[in-house]
Amino acid sequence: MVHPFTAASFNQFLGEHKLMASRCTQCKQTFLPPRAICPNCHSDQMEWVETSGKGTLAAFTSVYVGPTFMNAEGFDRNNPYATGIVELDEGVKISARLTGVDAKNPANIKIGTPMRVEFLDRGEGDAKQTFLAFTPAN
Ligand SMILES: [Zn+2]
Repeated sequence: MVHPFTAASFNQFLGEHKLMASRCTQCKQTFLPPRAICPNCHSDQMEWVETSGKGTLAAFTSVYVGPTFMNAEGFDRNNPYATGIVELDEGVKISARLTGVDAKNPANIKIGTPMRVEFLDRGEGDAKQTFLAFTPAN
């Protein structure tokens, strides 16, 4: 199957529990979210690469007022969730939801914590969606 370098392909890979990035075959830079054209050397010779899914926490925030689908999961003003930016071992940064961290006590969340990817499946059948998340690796 041909996967164009789009968000739709990226999400399809998430559904297969793969965190995929695009890599420029010319200058070897990796991009996440995937890009069709290399911003570095302007080549369109991209290839998909599966990332290790491992990295470190670069930034985070606790969210007290989230979107409807997060409210539906039971998160609200009294039960915040965390989102953050993880720098993967491949050197690219990506924002995602954080699980397994104490969103109510952000002082307990440490920048530089080793993280690993987690795939959150929500819904059934055609309505099934997979969300990207990271959780502490230890
Ligand atoms: Zn390039």
